[in-house]
Amino acid sequence: MAETSEDMAETDAMVARYSVVRALAIVGDTWTILILRAAFAGTHRFSDWQNDLGIPKAVLASRLERLVENRILYKRPTQSGGKRMEYFLDEAGLELWEPLAAMVRWSRHWYGEEGHHASWFHHKTCGSDCDLILSCDICANPLTFYNTYAEDGPGAGLEPRIVPHSRRRANSAIRHGDDAFGSPEALTLFGDLWAPAIVATAFRGGRRFNDLVTYLRIPPLVLSMRLKELIAMDVLTRRTTKESDSYEAFHLTRKGLDLFPYISMLAKWGDRWRGDADGVPLVFQHRDCGHNYKPHFRCSACGDRLHRADVVFLDPLARS
Ligand SMILES: [Zn+2]
Ligand SMILES: [Zn+2]
Repeated sequence: MAETSEDMAETDAMVARYSVVRALAIVGDTWTILILRAAFAGTHRFSDWQNDLGIPKAVLASRLERLVENRILYKRPTQSGGKRMEYFLDEAGLELWEPLAAMVRWSRHWYGEEGHHASWFHHKTCGSDCDLILSCDICANPLTFYNTYAEDGPGAGLEPRIVPHSRRRANSAIRHGDDAFGSPEALTLFGDLWAPAIVATAFRGGRRFNDLVTYLRIPPLVLSMRLKELIAMDVLTRRTTKESDSYEAFHLTRKGLDLFPYISMLAKWGDRWRGDADGVPLVFQHRDCGHNYKPHFRCSACGDRLHRADVVFLDPLARS
């Protein structure tokens, strides 16, 4: 018995290498998302984040430190000299525009007053307000959950489980969800490691309780709580077969399936910035063209590939 439980403890500590989870270990945090959104809107100074977000000083300091350690922000002394520092998006931070844009897009789409038909982005190159279309870098056609699949890549295997920050509900952070994402609910979803990881695993076919426990090594109690929340948000729906309750499975709703661009962009960022010498854990295939792809966004108005510097976020936070 002792040997078995020791084996289990050993196994429990290991989890499939997964770029989405690696990315979430950094960006699956409410305050971090708000800090980054503000950074993209031009915030550089500690005091500005503090005043704009009402974030406790110690929390802000620890988040900034982590973002600097992970080369998402870099700091340098202010022009005026002295000990004060300013923070700027580093290369890895700048490339987070794609997951962030995907968060904004999803939130405004499902929670914005203007509903599904509003355009939340402006493409400077063509001059149109637009939506973002997740597209294949090889054939340029749209990517969806239905026309893509993932296979093990060279870096597939196991790694020690990432221990998430304890999620004390950052209620003071979630209050900002209305401004940043049109809904506190959206920020609750994105500002977490587990909820997006569950959605990502559902995209990969892990839809039963035990599949999710096995794949993510998520504590069952935590999983129960998150599933309840995701069902309440109408991201997942619970289905049981007639034969047996034990065949209960969790399926993505339309709203859940619309998180595909977000999960895809998290995986891309995780591959690029949280990878190691072994290579990517997963490769993604586009059925329509038969190639390995990397996703990028195209403009719904002109069809061109969108580059960060040419896209303006038309949400209230970016305007302020
Ligand atoms: Zn393609
Ligand atoms: Zn355009």
